[in-house]
Amino acid sequence: MTTNKKALISGAGIAGLALAYWLDHHGFRPTVIERAPHIRHGGYAVDFRGEALDVLDRMDLLEPIRALDTEMGDAAMVDADGRQYATLPAAVFAGDLEVPKGELTRLLYAAAQDRAEYLFGDSIATVEQDADGVDVTFENGPPRRFDLLVGADGLHSRTRALAFGSEEHFVRSLGIHTAIFSLPNYLGLHRTGQLYVSPGKAASMFAENSDGRARAALHFASEELAYDRHDSGELQRIVAERFAGEGWEIPRLLTEMRKAEDFWFDVNAQVVMDTWSRSRVVLLGDAGYCAAPTSGRGTSQALIGAYVLAGELAQARGNHTEAFTAYEHAMRPFVTEHQAVGREGAERFFMSAPTQEVLDMLAANAPENTRTEAIRLPDYAAH
Ligand SMILES: Cc1cc2nc3c(=O)[nH]c(=O)nc-3n(C[C@H](O)[C@H](O)[C@H](O)COP(=O)(O)OP(=O)(O)OC[C@H]3O[C@@H](n4cnc5c(N)ncnc54)[C@H](O)[C@@H]3O)c2cc1C
Repeated sequence: MTTNKKALISGAGIAGLALAYWLDHHGFRPTVIERAPHIRHGGYAVDFRGEALDVLDRMDLLEPIRALDTEMGDAAMVDADGRQYATLPAAVFAGDLEVPKGELTRLLYAAAQDRAEYLFGDSIATVEQDADGVDVTFENGPPRRFDLLVGADGLHSRTRALAFGSEEHFVRSLGIHTAIFSLPNYLGLHRTGQLYVSPGKAASMFAENSDGRARAALHFASEELAYDRHDSGELQRIVAERFAGEGWEIPRLLTEMRKAEDFWFDVNAQVVMDTWSRSRVVLLGDAGYCAAPTSGRGTSQALIGAYVLAGELAQARGNHTEAFTAYEHAMRPFVTEHQAVGREGAERFFMSAPTQEVLDMLAANAPENTRTEAIRLPDYAAH
């Protein structure tokens, strides 16, 4: 009989929702706690690769997700006056399948909604483990006891901080900060974008469809910066200072940034840990092994990690020690490969504006088959 059935998942992002789906599938009883008052709808476009498509297929989500494919075409590299000097092939920036993250989250939630208990607008506050379970207190709700706790709460994971130690031990900056926000599509882009590069900086505006909205991203290379992550005003001032005096559409983008309701800012970083579990607490997705946006692999890691973690728990009949070891053994080479891609992507960022030759070479090197030898997806029988 499977034991350790009551699992608390912190975070209803890609990893947490996928895990709720798979744990229920294997006969566990997941509870999901999400700090936001509801599922997060916004976000940039994310791409999937290789084996992640197999996981979606096993969840019967591949076709609905394919229907959301942004089908991005090539984009334009532009100079300070907005003149196109090169073409950025779509193969360089979109994977096997690219979808808006908010739409993906909505579909995953629809699939996992009836498979778990959801606590929105709350967060874990303290965690105490003993031989038989995990006592958790919450910022708002009453304390509860679970068999297992899974931290799927992203790069700045509260679970990781509580069970493993503070962020500076595990989060490694790749030296790039990024701001993202939506804005009116005043350039009239459709399934394309424009990208402007100057030394140590890059800015882009992309539009997936013709709904009148576009997404802007402003990236800059920098040393470690000290700021309050939750103070949008301070973050926007930092971005505006870095991009002051730049050409192309930058002045307009900075104006739109201050009006945006979905402004997002963070450092591009990786999470590097010797182990992803501590007794009854385990980490999943960005919380445990973020590969950084420059890898383009984080969503695939989150989905595959959830599938493997739930499958190993089922296979080990809830013996969490055995299951967490097997999960780590299966995932570690895959994560190592992706984190190397993330670091290479960050190094490329520090190149000056690339020539057409370099862009064509990058497109030619984008593998048609993005499957890897670094992971095998077992067929875990439902229990
Ligand atoms: C700019 C950018 C572009 C990207 N592009 C790509 C791409 O093209 N392809 C790709 O594969 N990946 C991409 N990624 C990475 C991808 O978004 C992540 O790797 C992926 O979403 C990881 O999922 P996750 O569930 O682990 O974390 P997240 O998606 O970060 O979800 C974490 C969840 O936990 C919640 N949470 C946080 N703290 C708490 C708390 N204390 N209590 C409760 N809940 C909490 C959050 O609200 C959120 O819902 C990109 C990331 C960024 C930032």
